[in-house]
Amino acid sequence: MDFGLDETSRLVRETAEAFSKRRLAPIAKSIDEDGAIPGEVLKELADLGLMGVNVPEEYGGAAAGVLAYSQAMMQIAGGCASTAVTMAVTNMVGEVIAAFGTDAQKARTIPRLTSGETLGAFALSEVDAGSDPGGMRTTAVRDGDEWVLNGTKQWISHADGSEVMIVWARTGDTSSKGLSCFLLEGRPPGLSIPGHEDKMGLRGSHTCSLVFEDMRLPSDALFGELGGGFKIAMMALDGGRIGIASQSIGIGRAAQAAAVAYSKDRKQFGEAIAAFQAIQWMIADNETDLAAAEVLVGRAAWLKEKGERFSQEASMAKVYATEAAWRVCNRAVQVHGGYGYTREFAVERHLRDVRVTQIYEGTSEVQRIVISRALLK
Ligand SMILES: Cc1cc2nc3c(=O)[nH]c(=O)nc-3n(C[C@H](O)[C@H](O)[C@H](O)COP(=O)(O)OP(=O)(O)OC[C@H]3O[C@@H](n4cnc5c(N)ncnc54)[C@H](O)[C@@H]3O)c2cc1C
Repeated sequence: MDFGLDETSRLVRETAEAFSKRRLAPIAKSIDEDGAIPGEVLKELADLGLMGVNVPEEYGGAAAGVLAYSQAMMQIAGGCASTAVTMAVTNMVGEVIAAFGTDAQKARTIPRLTSGETLGAFALSEVDAGSDPGGMRTTAVRDGDEWVLNGTKQWISHADGSEVMIVWARTGDTSSKGLSCFLLEGRPPGLSIPGHEDKMGLRGSHTCSLVFEDMRLPSDALFGELGGGFKIAMMALDGGRIGIASQSIGIGRAAQAAAVAYSKDRKQFGEAIAAFQAIQWMIADNETDLAAAEVLVGRAAWLKEKGERFSQEASMAKVYATEAAWRVCNRAVQVHGGYGYTREFAVERHLRDVRVTQIYEGTSEVQRIVISRALLK
């Protein structure tokens, strides 16, 4: 196993790191408070190639690979976790369209994502179908040359800023083969986006519901094969989990940097708290957690890059990295004492932001199901 970074990956990481430090970190607090990411920031991210890191060049992507994407995600998440999830979902949608779309679908939609013209959204979950997307109720029925969709999607990241969405709907029986995918472009009649959730963290990223009331899509909106939606969702989520694991590491690294700096500065009992073994051990445990997470994520990314099976490894990376990053952020608050519990210090935001990484793109429990199934089948 050798997932040392090549020249391209190093360049992508350095680009993301510089942008994160210069452009994102200084405004992350206001993004959290205002509940929105400035549009020009997302456009600049696209101009740097970060909205299509692992997307073919012919569609405006950087074609830099999975390791480069993972590294870029860590850097962006360290600056602003809300921006990172927006980048994660847009990259995932671009990759999925590149893998499963027709030539016409790819040419029509991916350049809009990689150029920053619009965001990509991934509309799988519903009110009663989260961990179990097979339970979804949204339907798509063929009517002449069109598809008619009815139903409601829940928890769809930045759907209000997206004109290229992948939507799942039932086209057949209640088995997994009864699900299909559709490309939802623009704002067709029958689509409404009523609002977004009031969340604990990632407050700059709007998490929306989508309502379809006799929403008509053209026949070529069918994405992939009829009845092939479940397979596309599972493959997309395998890759997406590497992105979310990387996001959690980025947030954890930012919290650890803050904890190290604060421990050297803060004095109690006449000396810096960094002199106390209790603090030293928290810093050591944080570094060990993060390093282990980086190895697991690097392995999953490396396997995906080589075109090998990586589903189990992506789940192991996600469950470990997201839970490790939560421990890291929690300890970073502890190192800050009471100040860590205030909005004045970034570790408070990091702890809120990192929490959801154990929930979306498959909860920790779902990752453990994927891992144990692979071992016990
Ligand atoms: C901020 C945010 C952004 C999101 N963005 C998107 C998005 O862009 N697109 C999208 O489609 N979805 C998105 N989601 C949805 C997310 O993927 C779901 O919330 C997640 O899959 C869990 O589903 P649920 O919330 O319905 O929880 P449930 O499935 O109801 O789970 C509740 C609890 O039961 C556990 N559980 C469920 N089934 C089992 C089982 N078989 N064994 C053991 N435990 C089980 C879960 O692990 C969890 O602890 C987002 C969610 C959030 C919070």
